[in-house]
Amino acid sequence: MEEVKSLNFIEEIIENDLETGKHTSITTRFPPEPNGYLHIGHAKSICLNFGLSIKYQGKTNLRFDDTNPTKEDIEYVDSIREDVKWLGFEWSEERYASDYFDTIYDLTVKLIQKGLAYVDPSTSEEIANLKGTPTKEGTDSPYRNRPIEENLAIFAEMKAGKFKDGAMVLRAKIDMSSPNMLLRDPVIYRIKHAHHHQTGDKWCIYPMYDYAHPISDAIENITHSVCTLEFEVHRPFYDWTIANLEMFPSRQIEFARLNLTYTIMSKRKLLQLVQEKHVTGWDDPRMPTISGLRRRGYTPQSLREFATRIGIAKRDNMIDVSLLEFCLREDLNKTSKRMMAVLNPLKVVIANFPTESKGETDHFQLHNNIILDMVDIENNPEDEAAGKRKMPFTKEIWLEKEDFMEIPPKGFHRLSPGGYFRLKGAYIIKHEKTFRDALGNVSEIHCSYVPNSRSGNDESGIKVKGVGHWVSVSHAVKAECRMYDRLFNVAEPDNDKEKSFLEFINPNSLEVVPNILVEPSVKDLVVGERVQFLRHGYFALDKDSTEGSPVFNRTVTLKELKVFN
Ligand code: ATP
Ligand code: MG
Repeated sequence: MEEVKSLNFIEEIIENDLETGKHTSITTRFPPEPNGYLHIGHAKSICLNFGLSIKYQGKTNLRFDDTNPTKEDIEYVDSIREDVKWLGFEWSEERYASDYFDTIYDLTVKLIQKGLAYVDPSTSEEIANLKGTPTKEGTDSPYRNRPIEENLAIFAEMKAGKFKDGAMVLRAKIDMSSPNMLLRDPVIYRIKHAHHHQTGDKWCIYPMYDYAHPISDAIENITHSVCTLEFEVHRPFYDWTIANLEMFPSRQIEFARLNLTYTIMSKRKLLQLVQEKHVTGWDDPRMPTISGLRRRGYTPQSLREFATRIGIAKRDNMIDVSLLEFCLREDLNKTSKRMMAVLNPLKVVIANFPTESKGETDHFQLHNNIILDMVDIENNPEDEAAGKRKMPFTKEIWLEKEDFMEIPPKGFHRLSPGGYFRLKGAYIIKHEKTFRDALGNVSEIHCSYVPNSRSGNDESGIKVKGVGHWVSVSHAVKAECRMYDRLFNVAEPDNDKEKSFLEFINPNSLEVVPNILVEPSVKDLVVGERVQFLRHGYFALDKDSTEGSPVFNRTVTLKELKVFN
């Protein structure tokens, strides 16, 4: 039997519209305002809108809702385009609400001619005072019944730049006693002598977002205009605008926005974090922006999978950020190359290491004056096709300090005095001698290697429980490692009535480990590439890396950080 997948409520609406013939195909849009970088909440909306058009073979436009020139910038436009592409989606058409300024103006003239809009020179305070309250009806503005001709003439003068910012507004004439406050003659145009990133200085009046949005949707024949729940009360005005301008019947459908624990999800507040330098920029790897997540090492696949798993709801809820991390680990486990990096090094000298190579039959060879054995290390145990790489095993290696204990507790399976330990992909070693510094701390250990224990051809018969990563001292590459923790130290930093979210910033959200030691193949990594440092977690090569000085961001820890293995 065919598996029947239940539809979410938006899919139900769409399938119904297609069945009844209301639409023959669907068009959705993702409509960001270019006033900041996109965040993980936007990713949910992107996956939803593009996901719907992919599922129903429709179209999705990328539309910049750029009606607010003073807060917007081309930098944001560029970043948004990059982020949507990176997430793996292609838009049908790239549009700007500002493309429609002429059309919106013409439509507005029609609205005035219909007697459905009027110019009001009242101050914003006066307008607010007459608006009433949800329980008290509003009062008509003294300008509400201004003759149509007069409205047309003044509106034209507004456009021509005759008045100063805020001198007057154009209002829709709807219903001052409506229980929906947003229908009490909302402002639809305001005067703003501001340079616009797309239209330059052509306009000094701009349509309000709530008014431009339905018009833009209708112009683009958007069938299903998906937005977040807070717009539910705006829907009557959305419908009013489309009906009175006699346009394509776009339908607005609301879904619950994404809220994540330990995460701020408002562009305004993210901007504040950037401007006040609580983070290094919009793409700081601790930011929930798509660019921050990308820099941190998140994969597009993990974000899409996350969006699918959380699904869509009609009621606001809070998603645990650990679900996001789960999706990330699941993907990185399948796709990331394993590498060896020692974070806290202890030098190990292999006392019985060969001093010469016996020639071609020998594993050991002389290379740049160093005797070494190039051992094979698998790149990803989850993916055979990822193949193997060679790593030099030499007389002096770095081991993780934690992998050696002089007085091992019960259950410790790593190296201890006289004990055996396997070096991943190489040989079994046996502890011989411990050396100390002047303070009495272990400074170096000497071991012997077991010649017939080479990985893949182990004939030693020695049973070893502990396996650890290592790096050849003469081949190790020093790297900086940035360990991130949550940016906020409470689950809901945005939910405190008395305190600002800034008070919950985790002062320890970044710990820099300046000198980790990484295997030499690190030189082949490109910026953005993701790896797993065995037993340490997933890391991504950061753009701050310079030739010979790699910098890594810890993307996420491994599933379980056990003290012993
Ligand atoms: P913010 O509230 O963070 O400032 P916004 O809603 O003002 O975001 P827009 O550029 O208007 O940002 O958003 C573009 C689209 O993304 C809108 O359709 C909006 O509903 C959607 N969106 C924004 N935040 C979320 C979220 N947290 N979850 C789901 N969708 C979101
Ligand atoms: Mg918005």
